[in-house]
Amino acid sequence: MSEIRLQVVDSQSRFSCGGCTRCCTQPYTVIIEQAKAEELQKHDFSAYPQLAGQTLFTQSKDAPAGYAVLPKQAGTTRCLFLADDGLCIIHKELGADAKPKNCLKYPFHISPTYVDDRVSLDFGCPNVQNPAGRPLAEQGADIVSICPPSKIPVYRDARVDLCPGAQLPHAAFELLMDRCELALTAENGDSIWVRFARILQLLQAVQQKLASAPESISEWIAAEAASLLNQHVAAPQPFASASAAPSPVRMMFAATLLRDVLPADATLNLSLMRRVLLLPKLMSLAKLTGRYESKFLGREIDIDAMLQHPLEPDLDPAATALLQRYYRTRIWQRFIVGTRLSIVAGIHQHIQDLNAILFLARGLAQQQQAPRLTEALVAEGLSRVEFNIANQPRVFDQKSLTWFTGQLDNPALALESLRLMALPVAHSSAAEQLPAAVAAH
Ligand code: SF4
Repeated sequence: MSEIRLQVVDSQSRFSCGGCTRCCTQPYTVIIEQAKAEELQKHDFSAYPQLAGQTLFTQSKDAPAGYAVLPKQAGTTRCLFLADDGLCIIHKELGADAKPKNCLKYPFHISPTYVDDRVSLDFGCPNVQNPAGRPLAEQGADIVSICPPSKIPVYRDARVDLCPGAQLPHAAFELLMDRCELALTAENGDSIWVRFARILQLLQAVQQKLASAPESISEWIAAEAASLLNQHVAAPQPFASASAAPSPVRMMFAATLLRDVLPADATLNLSLMRRVLLLPKLMSLAKLTGRYESKFLGREIDIDAMLQHPLEPDLDPAATALLQRYYRTRIWQRFIVGTRLSIVAGIHQHIQDLNAILFLARGLAQQQQAPRLTEALVAEGLSRVEFNIANQPRVFDQKSLTWFTGQLDNPALALESLRLMALPVAHSSAAEQLPAAVAAH
């Protein structure tokens, strides 16, 4: 008899919808199951002048098979079905179940691993960023009704790629993830950059141990990983300028941020022709200089002016705490069964998202002439990345673009990527814990 999968909810998360409509006013494409879309056409929406004469859904080659696309209100990023009272017209007229599946699930994300389903929340939602409402732990029945456990068989003997050619038994993988979570959450005053640098250092140590003594890797992680995380790690320092970063670092960043320059209807589920057409945009963004029309910030941005805008050299501690909460709860999101993402590649994607969050926060800081990356600015950057990048298909997912997947598996490049948006003071308290004689060298 097959084992029943466990839904693991983040015990520290809370959520109740505050009705702010932020999730209904994003530039992302809202897809709806074809059958539900056709039901819309049969309904009388004459009570809603905003729908008069409108096409209620469109077919798009960029949408997955079996799905249509819900249009936006003309000239805006508001869903066509968002009423002036902030409520969903589909919900009001046809009931909750008539809404697109993705809207019903929001803000829950289910990450099925080989042994369980990890339930986390989308940090685009302000009520998730500032935990408000009922604890998730009390919402089990509701969560199961919205997001039923996946039917993937439990596979405890699975082996997980640390990086290509190096595999961990599943038990060792779980231990390693616990240690990564520890690096993200430890209350030691480390910057977010130092925390990720520690994780990368740990992954490289595990890779070396796997090569020399694979049979004892679980015991070694259990015994050694926690102390490794306390060792000194050099704080990642920014490049002289972002455009001086190595080309692969800039290309990976551009691939992450690409949706910011794409037309509103593109879902990255692209035809070969459209992939070819987006390459010039990718190359231009990768130079990290010049101007472009930012979809996420809703204005043209001057990259040079933005990155040269003077900022205090450290991140607001409240912003660091927000990023710690985000990465602790969402770290599993990159290790979903079926994506076959290695552990190094998954952490590298999180680092790419961090760069996108900070890039957008810096854009907002320049616009507001703010001298510091505050929690509010980072929260805005995080919200845009969660809505539009972190949970959407990426260039990295395109099977034909193997150069990108190869770069994701490179821990040295991940460390260089960590420098791209770093602020000059990336504090490392562990350095202070070293004996004076060692620290002096
Ligand atoms: S963003 Fe969050 S609080 Fe706002 S409407 Fe959506 S689910 Fe509700």
